[in-house]
Amino acid sequence: LRILGIETSCDETAAAVVLRHADGRGEIVSDVVLSQLEEHSAFGGVVPEIAARAHVEALDGLVTEALTRAGVSLQEIDAVAATAGPGLIGGLLVGLMTGKAIAMAAGKPLYAVNHLEGHALTARLTDGLAFPYLMLLVSGGHTQLVLIKGVGDYERWGTTIDDALGEAFDKTAKLLGLPYPGGPAVEKAARSGDPERFDLPRPLVGEARLDFSFSGLKTAVRQAATAIQPLTEQDIADICASFQRAISRTLKDRIGRGLARFRERYPEENKPALVVAGGVAANQVLRATLQELCSAHGFSFIAPPIRLCTDNAAMIAWAGLERMAAGLPDDPMAVAPRSRWPLDAEAAARIGSGK
Ligand code: ATP
Ligand code: MG
Ligand code: FE
Repeated sequence: LRILGIETSCDETAAAVVLRHADGRGEIVSDVVLSQLEEHSAFGGVVPEIAARAHVEALDGLVTEALTRAGVSLQEIDAVAATAGPGLIGGLLVGLMTGKAIAMAAGKPLYAVNHLEGHALTARLTDGLAFPYLMLLVSGGHTQLVLIKGVGDYERWGTTIDDALGEAFDKTAKLLGLPYPGGPAVEKAARSGDPERFDLPRPLVGEARLDFSFSGLKTAVRQAATAIQPLTEQDIADICASFQRAISRTLKDRIGRGLARFRERYPEENKPALVVAGGVAANQVLRATLQELCSAHGFSFIAPPIRLCTDNAAMIAWAGLERMAAGLPDDPMAVAPRSRWPLDAEAAARIGSGK
């Protein structure tokens, strides 16, 4: 089976062709991503209207390029998969409508894919990972710990009650006058900093529920920064290092509890795994923390290549392939994009019923 994937939910326009071999192995045949980072950097964040327009301009060319690089025509594709949510509605409309048009013109089935499902199933494409496993998604828009039980079968164990982790990095960078996107800038500055200089808060540590909270951390950074004026380069480095230390300690507690819960739930599982996804997965301190934690709990730690951790269309194509292979139905042409669309059925039903 061969599928064309399209991703336009945020600030990356992407198209990919992915193959699923008879033995279930996945193969990325082509994978093109165009980041809109430059269009948005002057604004210090993603501007929805600019993003939607940029998707319109780029998508056709990217789809053609993905097909050309794969050396296949539309007729040689078995289906089209496009991200239908969650994300910025303008971008989702562009990608989903394009996907529908291509599917209709070529007479192929359409899969309207949940972006989070793309992240959730990536480790099966890269590492052939078997269910069940845990996924930590840490990006600019999401911070979630999710139990991945099967295709279309997810349980969200924890989520952020305020800012996403990537957002906390971005806001902290902005406060300190560092460039956008903040994550790489904060990580770089932290390398020459003293992580013990500031004792920043570690919200929810010690609590039994598995949620996250990062807005208090950002406020504490603001207080620390305004207390010392003017800030020297060393002060900034120390704040960044202390910020990462606080995050590291928080994640150790939160994720550690998640791993323990997984153990209780699946006592017979002898090779449990934690997968990380999202742009923040590029952070070396975070990786080292998770690696250490997993080793301590007897889990394998799986970090797909960064290119596949950040937003891309290969994961969307793969999620479509997984749905096809699992015998799940394709989607009607009337399917609509959804800016909010939680992965697990329980949370999705709550939104559907307006609660
Ligand atoms: P979505 O949340 O919808 O998946 P997004 O575009 O917000 O989309 P990604 O592109 O996956 O998310 O990740 C971008 C985020 O990752 C930004 O917040 C950025 O600051 C953060 N990030 C990138 N590199 C690093 C790093 N080295 N350390 C920490 N954070 C990082
Ligand atoms: Mg992005
Ligand atoms: Fe994403």
